[in-house]
Amino acid sequence: MNLSWKEVNWTTVLFLIISPFVAIGGIVYIAVYSEFHPATIALTIFMIFATGMSITGGYHRLFSHKSYEANKLVRWLYTFFGSAALEMSVIEWSYDHRNHHRYVDHDRDPYAITKGFWFAHIFWLFRKRGTGDRENVDLNLVQDLWKDPVLRFQHKFYMPVAIFSSFVFPAAIAALWGDFLGGLLIAGVARAVWVQQATFCINSVCHHLGTQPYSDRHTARDSWITALITYGEGYHNYHHEFPVDYRNGIRRWQYDPTKWLIFALSKLGMTWNLKRIPDEKILASKMEMQEKQLAALSVKKAQTTGFAEGVAAMRESGEKTLVRIQERFDELAKTMKEMRKAKKSRTEMKGLRKKLIRTYRLHEQKAVELMRQISSERTPATA
Ligand SMILES: [Zn+2]
Ligand SMILES: [Zn+2]
Repeated sequence: MNLSWKEVNWTTVLFLIISPFVAIGGIVYIAVYSEFHPATIALTIFMIFATGMSITGGYHRLFSHKSYEANKLVRWLYTFFGSAALEMSVIEWSYDHRNHHRYVDHDRDPYAITKGFWFAHIFWLFRKRGTGDRENVDLNLVQDLWKDPVLRFQHKFYMPVAIFSSFVFPAAIAALWGDFLGGLLIAGVARAVWVQQATFCINSVCHHLGTQPYSDRHTARDSWITALITYGEGYHNYHHEFPVDYRNGIRRWQYDPTKWLIFALSKLGMTWNLKRIPDEKILASKMEMQEKQLAALSVKKAQTTGFAEGVAAMRESGEKTLVRIQERFDELAKTMKEMRKAKKSRTEMKGLRKKLIRTYRLHEQKAVELMRQISSERTPATA
């Protein structure tokens, strides 16, 4: 990364370097000279989730992607607690994030993983906005957000708002039980450092570790391990493929507390219009990816073993079966779309969805079987 002194964002750099030392020093100081107050620990846990999920549920899924709508109170809370993550204003954050999706892995992607793991994690922040590869400014990209007076206010007074929500607020709360310093150092500084590193992982680890079940057109990956530290954003391959879905982990059991929060708020009438990608579309993407992997595997096998004929014949018969399943799948998906349009009853839709999933499972089974066969095929002993 070529960076001249003038192009360095010194405020950010100094904060990112100094704050982890203050956090560790603070924890050690309190452990040695004082004690961890249980109420302050509870406040810290609350702040970890409130600030982290204001980034994932607010900055990300609501403001950047508009994957659902929320009432004023929720938008206010997201803006207040999101400021405490010290990751810039909603307008700036969303501007970068929309560019990330639009130009993913390319030069204009502000945190392109193709420029290196640490660049995507933290080094991209070292450059001042408006210089080098951060110089492109297209305000139309966030025109909708400028219209919101709350977001305009937060953008204009970002520094005081951020300092207040990140440090003054937890310190003042903890002062209620006589632990001002614990509130400032643990629920304030240490918590901010933790939330920053956890959310930075979305740009680095989530483009590095895991599988690509939905698409390989970008580097984003799905992993439950990263989901655990990123409030559910670890299902990043799905997210890049379907960014308007309010969920990242689409299975009910997948750890995505951000999705659970949005869903729970919808039950209270505070969020609505939660967008979901139809099942048939998701399964079709998975099918396409599996076929791609299968094709790549048989080509590789034929090349490395020189056992082309057998593999080709096996692939051909397998592919014919897959095509038949695919046709059945497409038919069902089409019917489902029509039924959804006609707003058919839930039970009717449920029956059809079951059939669709069964067809997909059949495909998956066949594809896995075929992959296993191809990879276990040995080169015949030369006669
Ligand atoms: Zn990404
Ligand atoms: Zn996104």
